[in-house]
Amino acid sequence: MPVVKAKRPDEFELIRRFFAPLAAKAPGALGLTDDAALIKPPKGHELVVTTDALVEGVHFPFGETPESVAARALGVNLSDLAAMGARPLAYTMAIALGDRCGGAWIGRFAGELGRLQKTHRIDLIGGDTVATTGPLTVSITAFGVVRQGMALRRNAARPGDGIYVSGTIGDAALGLRALEGRLRGLAGKHRKALLDRFQRPRPRVCLGRALVGVARAAIDVSDGLVADVGHVARASRLTAEIDAGRVPLSAAARAAIAGDPKRLSVAITGGDDYELAFTAPPRADAAIARIARSLKLRITRIGRMKKGDGGTVMVTDGDGRPIRLARGGYRHF
Ligand code: ADP
Ligand code: MG
Repeated sequence: MPVVKAKRPDEFELIRRFFAPLAAKAPGALGLTDDAALIKPPKGHELVVTTDALVEGVHFPFGETPESVAARALGVNLSDLAAMGARPLAYTMAIALGDRCGGAWIGRFAGELGRLQKTHRIDLIGGDTVATTGPLTVSITAFGVVRQGMALRRNAARPGDGIYVSGTIGDAALGLRALEGRLRGLAGKHRKALLDRFQRPRPRVCLGRALVGVARAAIDVSDGLVADVGHVARASRLTAEIDAGRVPLSAAARAAIAGDPKRLSVAITGGDDYELAFTAPPRADAAIARIARSLKLRITRIGRMKKGDGGTVMVTDGDGRPIRLARGGYRHF
């Protein structure tokens, strides 16, 4: 089927009309009219930098709405900042547009970026805009700040730490299945809830910032709970023990799993949740409960770190018996 070439203003008009307004509040963006942007981190802080690229057909299905592409492209980067405990400052964005993405598409895409910018107090400060004959690609680099030496690292877990996770786990992976038509027989409201979790990640930026000085190690759940806790275990040279019975599931995920118990494995190994997983010593329990209350966010203790070979994740059922999982998490290669 020939691709319909959508009407689109030229590159400079695109930048002026859709992207410059997103940079209007950041003095360092220089109105997107200079060669590069300026960032001035506050005194006593370090710059935290992260990049994530999203390719149509790889990281999101073809034909995804512009709002969902925007929410995911900026959301995954904000999630990385959250996992470091950083406060978001600014981002740059390189976008390769296929013929399908015309002015109307870009307008909706930029509109969603604007809404997210307000929520997370971050501004666009630069980027690049190119045309492509290949898939739509959005690559964002996000900049945040954290007090010197206070970033939440993956390698800081200690034996005896509890393992905690925010929100609910597995919704996005089940949502992707629903999007692909592989989750039949689920009630409409549950289907919608799962889809929404995949299409609109809610990066836990406030939680990440609140955990600075409280949590030891942290990571965002992007590859899948088991794989990501495994990254913490490897970096910290410990073994992680997760009680699958404690992993927080939404009503929609529980309904999906009731329809086919094998989906529990999808939920705890599937990616794209963008919740935070972190470890903390037992004495931090009260502080964590306070943070959960003040952010109105569920935080659940799902296991603990113990001495071990470094990188093993043992997943047990409610009775402490090990569970075998189909796969550990998402890998590109
Ligand atoms: P260059 O010739 O150096 O690549 P461009 O003409 O591509 O410069 O970009 C002009 C200005 O517009 C620069 O400040 C750049 O950061 C900004 N810009 C271009 N594309 C984007 C984008 N997608 N998002 C934000 N800023 C952009
Ligand atoms: Mg350029």
